[in-house]
Amino acid sequence: MKADVEKKAETIKKEEKPVADKITVGHVHMSGCTGCLVSLADNYGGLLTILDKYADLVYGLTLADVRHIPKMDVALVEGSVCIQDKISVQEIKETREKAAIVVAVGGCACYGNITRFTRGGQQNQPQHESYLPVGDLIKVDVYIPGCAPCPQLIRNVCVMAYLLLKGNKDQQELAKKYLTPLMQLAERGTEACGCDLMYDVVNQGLCMGCGSCAAACPVRAITHEYGKPNVNREMCIKCGACYAQCPRSFFNFDVVPEFEGIMDAIDAALK
Ligand code: SF4
Ligand code: SF4
Repeated sequence: MKADVEKKAETIKKEEKPVADKITVGHVHMSGCTGCLVSLADNYGGLLTILDKYADLVYGLTLADVRHIPKMDVALVEGSVCIQDKISVQEIKETREKAAIVVAVGGCACYGNITRFTRGGQQNQPQHESYLPVGDLIKVDVYIPGCAPCPQLIRNVCVMAYLLLKGNKDQQELAKKYLTPLMQLAERGTEACGCDLMYDVVNQGLCMGCGSCAAACPVRAITHEYGKPNVNREMCIKCGACYAQCPRSFFNFDVVPEFEGIMDAIDAALK
């Protein structure tokens, strides 16, 4: 009888997900507007499930009273870096040292975005004039572009990072496939503009006139003429969303056949 009770207790213990199984995640706020964090929060119940089952938020000045950057599995970095601000430069370097995976979340962290237009000269720090995307200062592993980035994409990357670090072999393979295009995007560079569509899609004979780029642009800088995108460069804020969303840009054929499996895995994880 006693053995039975002990066995049952052991089963219950095994079924509960111990905290040690979670990955540790931090939100590092550089020169951003907190909109990327709002996007993460816009996963509503999905975010609570992630925090409940898969990830401990160990750092994030907006949400947690932790003053110094701790060691963590995943750093979600928002915002670009002002190189005249020594503390910001130190912080981003420290983030790279402390985090196993650095994710640039949003157009500012990936490409500079609106901070590409800063010229300094404003009170009370007129010397703050040069802002760089995170990848110009440290190695970034994964990009999530967009201004604001899509909540589901941030959520998916968090779930996939968990599967990569804590999952079984199959789950790790799936996570690798999912994350590879976003890692390739990080390797591609730190500059983005609506002209990417011209140089790398239209001029390469790849554009099929689907209109995804225009739908993705947050400032409606893209119109379609004769079935092809036309970018109003005066309006473009250099967020990189259009190129990232274009199905002819970094389309990855390894991921496409896995799409259903990936979505099933994410749905199952969030139940
Ligand atoms: S998203 Fe890509 S393929 Fe579609 S219209 Fe824009 S440039 Fe062309
Ligand atoms: S054209 Fe629009 S989506 Fe593309 S980089 Fe410019 S602002 Fe972003």
